[in-house]
Parts: sequence; C-alpha cells; structure tokens
Amino acid sequence: MKTSVIVNAVRDALAPTSVADARLLGHVGATADSCIRARIYSDWARGAMYEECVNSFRTHWDDAPDGGNGWGWQNEYWGKTMLCVAGAIAYTGDKALAQRALEKAHAFVREFQKPNGYLSTYAGEDFLRSNPDSEDARAQACFNVWGRKYTLWALVELHKATGDSECLTAAVKMADHLIAQLSRLGLTLAKTGAWHGISSMSILRPMLELHRLTGTDRYLALADEIVRDLSSESGGPEAILRDARREDKIAEWYPIPTFWAKAYETMSCLEGLADYYRLTGRKDILDGIVAYHGHLVREELNPMCGVGHFDHFVNAAARVNGMTELCDVTHWIRLNRELLLLTGETRYADLIEEAFLNAFLAGVFRGGRWGAHIVRSHGTRHLPAPAQTGMVHHQCCPDNMMRTFFDYSASQVARASDGALSVLLYTDGAATSGADRVEISGGYPWSDGPIVVKATLAADGKVRFRVPHWSATVQIDGQTITPRDGWVEMAGRAGVNSWSLRFDMSPRLANWNARAHDEVPDYTVTYMEWCTPDMVGLARVEPALLAFRGPLVLAKGRLAGTSRDETLFAMTRRAQDWRATLRQAPRTAANAGVVQPWTLTFERAGDTYDIPVADFASVSNVDDPANWFSLWF
Ligand SMILES: [Zn+2]
Repeated sequence: MKTSVIVNAVRDALAPTSVADARLLGHVGATADSCIRARIYSDWARGAMYEECVNSFRTHWDDAPDGGNGWGWQNEYWGKTMLCVAGAIAYTGDKALAQRALEKAHAFVREFQKPNGYLSTYAGEDFLRSNPDSEDARAQACFNVWGRKYTLWALVELHKATGDSECLTAAVKMADHLIAQLSRLGLTLAKTGAWHGISSMSILRPMLELHRLTGTDRYLALADEIVRDLSSESGGPEAILRDARREDKIAEWYPIPTFWAKAYETMSCLEGLADYYRLTGRKDILDGIVAYHGHLVREELNPMCGVGHFDHFVNAAARVNGMTELCDVTHWIRLNRELLLLTGETRYADLIEEAFLNAFLAGVFRGGRWGAHIVRSHGTRHLPAPAQTGMVHHQCCPDNMMRTFFDYSASQVARASDGALSVLLYTDGAATSGADRVEISGGYPWSDGPIVVKATLAADGKVRFRVPHWSATVQIDGQTITPRDGWVEMAGRAGVNSWSLRFDMSPRLANWNARAHDEVPDYTVTYMEWCTPDMVGLARVEPALLAFRGPLVLAKGRLAGTSRDETLFAMTRRAQDWRATLRQAPRTAANAGVVQPWTLTFERAGDTYDIPVADFASVSNVDDPANWFSLWF
C-alpha cells in the first residue's frame, strides 16, 4: 500500500506527545497499570473476555432469527477491546503484546471478513436502517454501521501502533464495502442506524484517519457527505452544527429529548468534526463545534464534572440526582482534547482534568477489571456496568475506559506552535517531546507539597505552564505570578531545569444551580432500582453545596470515615452561610480506603462542623451495596 502525504490545513496550536512517549506515574499511574494488567494481560482478558467478543461474529445474535435477546449491539466489542489493546501496545512498548495482538487480529479477519469486505456481527448485511415501529424487536434499532466503525477503527489503530499492513488492508476493505453498499442501496449514513443517523455518522473520525493513511479520496468524499448532513440548514435532527447556533437548550430541541439527544453518539460525531476541521481548515465547522460545546458547558455539566444526565443531554446542570455514563466522560474528555489541541485554550484542559479526576476515576472500579455504567453523585454505589446484550464479559463502558488513561497521559505535555514546551496536566507523570523531557512529581492534587516540574532541554527555550481557572495566581519557586490567558511562561536553559509550583488549593464552596429543582425524572428512579435496589429512596431532590479542592470534587463517604447519616441525610447548606477550611486528617482504620483523607470544617456564627472527606473518586470507586458516598454538603 502506498504511503500517503496528506497534509492538514490546520496546524494544531498544541502538538501533544504520543501515547508511546508519555507515562502516568503516582496514584493515577498505578490505577492505569492495574487496569492494563486486568484488561490486557490477565488470563481472563486473554481468554474468556477476548473469546466472547470474537464469538459474537459467529452467532450473529444481533439479528439472527433464533437469537440472542432481540435488538443488540454485540458488534462494537471486538473493536473497543482492540482499540484499548492498540493503545496499550503504544503505552507499554511491549513487543510481545503487539505480536500476540496481531496474531489474534489476523485470525479474526481471516475467519470473519467476507470477500466483499463486510465484517460485522449482523447476519443481514443490508440491515442498515432502524424501524422503531416494527413488531420485531430485532428491527427496532440497528447498530450495524456503529459496530463496524469500532472494528474498522481498531484495525486502523492496530496498524498505527505496529505498522502491520494486513490490519490496514482489512480496514480499507471494510471502508470500500461500506461506500459501495451505501451507493448500491441509495442511502446516506444519516439515513441509517440509531439516533437519527448520529451513531452511524460517527464513523467520520476513523474514515479521516484512513484517508490520511492511504491518500484515498473516496474516504474524504464520504467524510464530506457526513459533514454536509451534520451541518445542513435543511437537514433533520442530525444537523447538530446548525442547531448548535440555537439559543434554546439542547434539551428543548427535540420532542422527546430522552430519546433524541444521545450524548455518546453526538460527542463521537463532534470529535470527528474537529478532526475534519484540522484536515480542511473549514472555520465554520470549528465555530459550530465550539458553539455546541458552549451549550454543553452551560446546560449539561453535571456535579461529577462529566456532561449529560444518565446518557442524554436533558439539562443535566439543573439536576441534583447526578448520573453520567462512563462512555460520555470518555468522549467528553476526547472532545475537549481535540479543542485543546486545535485552539491552545487552557479552559479545555481544565475540563479534561476535572472530568478525569472526578467522574472518570470514580467509574474505574478498584483493580481496574470492571467499571461503572453510570457514575452517580451520591448513594450506595454507581450503577455497575451490567452484562449487556447477552454477553457476560463485555459492556459498553468498561470496554471503552482504558482509552481514557491514554488520552489523558498524552495530554500532559505538548509543544506549542511557537515552540514552547507546554505543561498541561500536573498529576505525576513523565513525557518526552522531541529532544526534551519533562518529569512531573509532587502528588498533585492530593498532596500539600508543591508540584515539581523537571525539564531536561536540548537547547534554551520557553517553558509554559497552564494555570487552572480556580487559581488566580501561581507561585513558582516562591514568586507569585498572575497568569495571562491561563498561562505563565518561564525561560528554560539547555540541560536540567527544575521549577516548584504552588496553585491556590484552598477549599472552594459553590451552590449548585440556584434555581429550585423540581423533580427526579421517572426513568432515573427506574434505573436506580433496576440493578442497585439498595438505592431505593435515595434519589436526591434538593440541591446543596459543592466543595472543591483544586480540581477535585470533595465528597463524604464510608471510605473516608464519614457516617452514613452525615453522608446521605445531613442538613442542606448554602454557600453564602458558611466558611470552609480543609486540613489533612491523620490516617486511621476508618479512612484507610482513600488517597488522602481530609477534615472539612464548616463555620458560621456559633456553629462549627468537622466532616471527614476525600476526593469523590476515592470514596465511590467500589461496587459495594454496603458503601455510601455523597458530594452534596
Ligand atoms: Zn457506555
């Protein structure tokens, strides 16, 4: 296959280090390592888990007449599993893992890809359109293209991680088959799949990768068609870039928002659109993405620092019974990463950091093998990922979650377009950018000590530090500096440089949405009782105080040593009444389960309350009906 020389029209404002050149250390690194061990290297991962996602290509339970559980989407799991494997190959540099993965991928392609290129768990090759009115459950929703997207994308990423040509050839055959099929059936992707074509159109991102890798124009032509439909002035509900200019809330765009405004699929399309802007330089596309992103920040940020409620955009910012799908956190981080790289604006790094440290880490259960489907703000436990679509070793969200560690790791350090080495994220880690190396230590954001950034530079040059939005100034080596546009800049010398950084980590209190919240939606309660019966009666209806330390959402919880009554049923506080201080608490048996225990002290005239707290992820990343936690004070 020929080597392509496609050049992006837009140069990223920040060029990140590759996954292979960055490492997570400290607490986050240990969490990532345990996830990789459990989901890549364990006997379970290499055996039953892998075999189950392969087997779905034999049984065709998605639409087989005898099969499965009616409508399903077993189609995505091989692709999601192997996308994580491709990332792990890059992150670990493990040649033996690469070898094993390619052997598996080659055997998979040889067994299941039809001569015409079709590769799917759906027996019905031309079953592309959902029919919600059908009496046959198998016809009511169709994820045929959505699942093929994940298989194709995994093959592309395996090629990129290893240079293997057989994976790239298989991906090309899949793409060519799809294009020929749409032409033969007279369909555009907007007319296929679930959620008004949004699920199918998210194939935009891997299609652009394939265009870059092969230089083939027909993949760009398909991308052009997708973008036309996503932005068309005369289009239907799939025209999300047109609707992004609306003044009213996303939750008001559709007659049934709980059906239409699907967060994961929509953000997957926005990520592809961002890459399309990178390739083509179409400013109207970037403007549309930024406008949509503005709706999400205003309307859909939930108290765990993800977006959406459950898995939809239904005015999450006004809901106190916070729930967020882990995949939505993964893709919210991916969307912000694209905007961060394209624009260089630090606010996107702020959102990545807060989503990762709170909503994401809360959803990765200890040990790293499994995780949450829905991360909730309070109660006994998150909604654990249930065995899904007839499978027992796979679910939508745990199958996705490892990618987020790699996306985060490769966002720690970047090279600005003016050449400045830019430090973006401050949890312990190390990264190599060109001939320069950066090491970050200090235990941020749990430690009381400074962040130490050691930069070993090949030549004199500028080093830039992102200052998070909550810290008005930063102390660098004892000198207080006010950032400009979220950055401070230092002069680096060839050789080893070391800077000591202190942000303002004093606790902050915030009222959640001043407007009264009226009710908990029925479907939220239904899902609460579905697989966490211990949550009955715990849906919260009254907004209260949120407390933060730097990027961390503070929370009460059993693992931090807070009593159940104090955690779930304490008084509701309002920010204007209280002053808060935070101090490290001594380690005891009662708080041994968290990264860093603190005592949060609330004071007002005559009243003082000491409450044991920790970060939200620490108190809630276990699947135990006997646990309790809450981020509401
Ligand atoms: Zn999911």
